[in-house]
Amino acid sequence: MRAIGIFGGTFDPIHYGHLRSAWEVYQALRLQEIRMVPCRIPPHRTHPAVTPERRAELVAAALAGQTALTLDIRELVREGPSYTVDTLVSLREELGYATPMCLIVGSDAFFALETWHQWPRLFELAHVVVMHRAGARMRVTPGSALAAAVEARQTTCSEALHLAPAGHIYVQAVTALSISASQIRALIQRGERPQYLTPQQVINLITLHGLYL
Ligand code: ATP
Repeated sequence: MRAIGIFGGTFDPIHYGHLRSAWEVYQALRLQEIRMVPCRIPPHRTHPAVTPERRAELVAAALAGQTALTLDIRELVREGPSYTVDTLVSLREELGYATPMCLIVGSDAFFALETWHQWPRLFELAHVVVMHRAGARMRVTPGSALAAAVEARQTTCSEALHLAPAGHIYVQAVTALSISASQIRALIQRGERPQYLTPQQVINLITLHGLYL
């Protein structure tokens, strides 16, 4: 059974940095699909600039015309902070315990994994795929609980991700596109257009609804 990817984010707004990395992981690991999961209330950062429903609408627009990356709105309909562990439990209820699942995170997010709610449980529920962008440093603190998890769980064999439902750590290189949602928001506030940083359909919706002004 091919693994399913889970790519969470604030997506405020979604951009080509997210889309291209997700696509590269999808292709490199030959995943069944990747669920793009916008969070309702991010636990680790300031509140997003636009409503969760609107951010999801932008994700849906960005994903139009293909089926590899899909929108998953389960965090939007759940009360309280969007803890990844709860999202994985909910996905397990939908997909069962045999389907391999890969939680896809940026390397910055991975190095802060010990601050995530019930982080050791993540490995019981899914594999963790770390997107490594050229130039980004690998900095797991030596002697930390995360370093021990890496030591015990890291694999360099991508097929291993399809043979077990959860438990491995795998590092996947992705193209470093230096695009961020904060850069796009700042640019729009200055009255500029985020042309070619995110798909045209996303720009059209941002303009239509007057977002990030
Ligand atoms: P902000 O600028 O508002 O902090 P962001 O652009 O980093 O937002 P998020 O929604 O916070 O976007 O990111 C979701 C996930 O996408 C994270 O795992 C993050 O590491 C990853 N990500 C963000 N930007 C890029 C990029 N340019 N290339 C690859 N991955 C990215």
